[in-house]
Amino acid sequence: MLKKYVYAFEEGKKEMKSLLGGKGANLAEMSKIGLPVPPGFTITTEACIHYIEIGEKLEDSLKESIFEHLSDLEDAIGKDFGDVNDPLLVSVRSGAVISMPGMMDTILNLGLNDKSVEGLAKKTSNPRFAYDSYRRLIQMFGNVVLGIPGYEFDNYLERKKEKKNYDNDTDLTVDDLKDIIKDFKALIKNRKDIEFPQKPEEQLLMAIKAVFSSWNNNRAISYRNHNDIPHDLGTAVNVQTMVFGNIGDNSGTGVAFTRNPATGENKVFGEFLLNAQGEDVVAGIRTPKNISELKELMPEVYEEFMEVTETLEQHYKDMQDIEFTIQEGDLFLLQTRTGKRTADAAINIAVDMEEEGLIDKETAIMRIDPEDISQLLHPNFKEDELEKADLLATGLAASPGAAIGKIYFNSEDAAEAAADGEDVILVRKETSPEDIEGMVKSNGILTSRGGMTSHAAVVARGMGKCCVAGAGDIQVDESTRQFFVDDRVFNEGDYISLNGSTGEVYAGIVETTDAHLTDNFKMLMEWSDEYRDMGVYTNADTPNDAQVAVDFGAEGIGLCRTEHMFFDSERIMSVREMIVADSKKKRKKALDKLFPYQKEDFKGIFKVMQDMNVTVRLLDPPLHEFLPQNERDIKNLAGELSISVEELRRTISDLEEMNPMLGHRGCRLGISYPEIYEMQVKAIISAAIEVKEEDGYDVKADIMIPLVGTDKELEIIREKSEKVAAGLLDNTDTEIHYTIGTMIEIPRAALLADRIAKFADFFSFGTNDLTQMTYGFSRDDAGKFISEYLDQEIFAKDPFQVLDQDGVGKLIENTVKLGREEKPELKIGICGEHGGEPSSIEFCHKNNLNYVSCSPYRVPIARLAAAQSAIKHS
Ligand code: PEP
Ligand code: MG
Repeated sequence: MLKKYVYAFEEGKKEMKSLLGGKGANLAEMSKIGLPVPPGFTITTEACIHYIEIGEKLEDSLKESIFEHLSDLEDAIGKDFGDVNDPLLVSVRSGAVISMPGMMDTILNLGLNDKSVEGLAKKTSNPRFAYDSYRRLIQMFGNVVLGIPGYEFDNYLERKKEKKNYDNDTDLTVDDLKDIIKDFKALIKNRKDIEFPQKPEEQLLMAIKAVFSSWNNNRAISYRNHNDIPHDLGTAVNVQTMVFGNIGDNSGTGVAFTRNPATGENKVFGEFLLNAQGEDVVAGIRTPKNISELKELMPEVYEEFMEVTETLEQHYKDMQDIEFTIQEGDLFLLQTRTGKRTADAAINIAVDMEEEGLIDKETAIMRIDPEDISQLLHPNFKEDELEKADLLATGLAASPGAAIGKIYFNSEDAAEAAADGEDVILVRKETSPEDIEGMVKSNGILTSRGGMTSHAAVVARGMGKCCVAGAGDIQVDESTRQFFVDDRVFNEGDYISLNGSTGEVYAGIVETTDAHLTDNFKMLMEWSDEYRDMGVYTNADTPNDAQVAVDFGAEGIGLCRTEHMFFDSERIMSVREMIVADSKKKRKKALDKLFPYQKEDFKGIFKVMQDMNVTVRLLDPPLHEFLPQNERDIKNLAGELSISVEELRRTISDLEEMNPMLGHRGCRLGISYPEIYEMQVKAIISAAIEVKEEDGYDVKADIMIPLVGTDKELEIIREKSEKVAAGLLDNTDTEIHYTIGTMIEIPRAALLADRIAKFADFFSFGTNDLTQMTYGFSRDDAGKFISEYLDQEIFAKDPFQVLDQDGVGKLIENTVKLGREEKPELKIGICGEHGGEPSSIEFCHKNNLNYVSCSPYRVPIARLAAAQSAIKHS
């Protein structure tokens, strides 16, 4: 039997999303639950994949099936497709499995031609409507199906309106429209050397092919790359009976969210335009009205619409994004889908819905993308700075956050400047899918036109990017790369600051402050803590960082890198003295000077962390990193140390290594110069004793030895460290709980983890080094070729950001297995960058790690990701 490629709406349901696409499945579902949906059918994603596989062709059997379903529509509506007196008109719209706003395309009013437009005019006694519909069909067809840039049609329309002194499209008369139709057809002929097809069937098949082919246009591919959407899903096509929002002032079209997508407030949020068709709202050509105005204009439709939003939320149990059309006072639904929302809104909606009893806590937790919440943790503008700031204009608060950058006026320039390391703000009259690349690369987006549902607003919210839309006081001239506010001119490269939470646009740079967290955010975090079973620690080297992390919910420090402390200007001299010392005695003398500083460093951190674990890693990097590099500094140091410049230079050159990443660093330093680690252990234990005595905190110091490759290294360093600790603890009544563990950063340690475990109280995966050494990629140099690996799809993700579960992951699995065979209670964590990355956190959960440790700002992300892993695998 032939595969079924076409489904009437009555045959589908919401669970059939992968076959019918999101739009098709939801149109079917809405029909099923009795909502007013114009009849139609869906051509499946499988048909699209097949179409692409056989070289972008529609097979005869598929065409037959399409026309059978079309004939069913004709029967249902009582009109014929192509009838010259009263034609059935349809829309053709794409519908991918995962919604891709603005990526795929829509064609309305299919079925009109030179003859039937006259019939429609007569039949409806509304020639303006008929010719406007035909004008739109030719325009959309020319753009979407034939690939003529949209601005060619738009510019023509603008010129026409200017010539006639019209403000709006609705001012165009029937005669104007007839002229436009003629000129649009000529434009098509001129650009593509074909006539606009007069046969409705031909229009339909060309439109379906165009939608299928658009799955692989550059914009769609770029969007999928950015959003991790697989490329082999295909798109469905929906063919649906037209309803018209452009018949007159008792018709209209709009977009609404069942809750506010920017804040999450439980109040329908929407916009509509009277006497308009769908694309007018999204394109931001006219400024739409707020949905509340519908209450005055059409109270019954408004009531019905409010009921529909309620029904949809109760049915889908999530915030919905709805497209609707009002045709002469009758409401129709053209789409519903899960609404995109800001991170702030996502949290508010999830917590509210749990409290309303619509969803449970697990669902609420699973609803939030951990990566998205990073936008909440980032700075806002400083209040006092804002008061002084040079406010240029206020647009719509389309997507929250604070963004500062240099202005660029097109996507390519913005992307290029960002690639050069500049902070960029993309400024456009309005954006279109062609701008995606520039939007991805910019810190923020500013448009002078368009509403809250304009392309810029929707896409920026989806990306979690700051956006101010529709700032009408700003006049953008994309051709000269300038914008004007009154008599002020801003040129490409000038700085501006955007407040996406208020819609304000400022000249220059406005300073930012740390984020403040809402009650709902804290609630979600508390729920996450109820579900997760891994600890969340932080990587922090200063009391200040430690405090930020604790405020974000960190339960300990998983990595305190001590080398940063050595760079401090007050002590770098002593560090250098220690390095160039040519005898143990001299080195000890220098270390004695460093000791009080180190002790104070640790005391500061212990006081912030109180009773929580603090994992201090002993010195890791090669010593030459601390030595001066330029002439002047070398001279100064030589003077300071009373040695000759030549002698110092010799020492520096002796310390230089061909490959310092694999050289004299980590515990190898501890083996060669045990007095360095002894000083550090002494500082840690003394600090712990003093803080316990001064503040009463039950300090938990975990001493971590880096870059261990053999059990012998750890055995030696452990013994020496214990001796130092015992020397201090034997002389006091204060009891300190300390442990000695190691990082697993070298594959050999991972392979022989049972031997290492004999001398370790804990393991912590240093996945930065472990990734480097497993791949044999230098961390310092891999940046140069990893983008190439990503482009060629050798890597799906940069392994330094997202854990390579197959390779590095295998070493982790082996380490956990061997380590716990030797010591069942062995505490194991991770402190490489991967410890704050959601998919890597899930891997850690599956491998029974006790904790993850990440930078302070990623702590909330890790808490949520750990909870989601626990729920997913429970
Ligand atoms: C690691 O290697 O993963 C690690 C945390 O240590 P560092 O990044 O300091 O080398
Ligand atoms: Mg390391």
